Amino acid sequence: MWRATALTLFPEMFPGPLGESLAGKALKEGVWSLEAVDIRRFARDRHGTVDDAPFGGGAGMVLKPDILSAAIEAVAVPGVSKLLMSPRGAPFSQARGRELAAGPGVLLVCGRFEGVDERVIEAHALEEVSVGDFVLSGGEIAAMAVMDCCVRLLPGVMGAAESASEESFEDGLLEYPHYTRPATWAGPDGTERRVPEVLVSGHHGRVAEWRRQQREEITRRRRPDLWDRRRTAKTNEDQ
Ligand code: SAH
Repeated sequence: MWRATALTLFPEMFPGPLGESLAGKALKEGVWSLEAVDIRRFARDRHGTVDDAPFGGGAGMVLKPDILSAAIEAVAVPGVSKLLMSPRGAPFSQARGRELAAGPGVLLVCGRFEGVDERVIEAHALEEVSVGDFVLSGGEIAAMAVMDCCVRLLPGVMGAAESASEESFEDGLLEYPHYTRPATWAGPDGTERRVPEVLVSGHHGRVAEWRRQQREEITRRRRPDLWDRRRTAKTNEDQ
């Protein structure tokens, strides 16, 4: 069983959205397990203090190293990757999600306030991971995003094995556009919109070719960064 542990000040937030749909079903079936552990359990005074003012001054509070470290030591399992949710971390990716899903599980530390004492990151060699260039008020939603990405990649969670292989990012390209019935649909302005003809042609080869072209075009236009990276990778492959 793939094991996810979240260290958080808000354990009641879990499983939250992960209790529904694909991830929720897999959770009930025991494909993966989720434990949300309250960092406050490791506080040592009767007020349950977990944070303190930053040395050097400045706004906000910082999670105390002694408390957070005790919590990490209590729940860490050998072989399980230890990640700290952090806006200054490496951008989380489908590729990293695949690696983590192939391992025994993850321990995700959810920050709050201004963040955590730097020494804990060093001492536990926490891998700092960001879910995007924006600031959340806590690491919980970021941790759920990481868990969800990993869980849907676990064997048996998604229906057909190939349903993951053509998705966005899997091969450095974004996904092609989808269409379903009715073949002609009049939108709110009354304009009739027809699905691309090739999709109803019944010609599998032409459909595959159209989808490949769409993926390349969309990636080139929307994400030049992905497009350039892919071209560099291809050039290196060819050499
Ligand atoms: N002072 C910090 C922001 C703290 S936000 C800074 O300027 O970088 C509080 C917590 O929310 C962080 O400790 C982190 O755990 C989480 N968090 C916020 N934004 C995040 C993001 N983009 N990715 C991952 N975690 C994030």
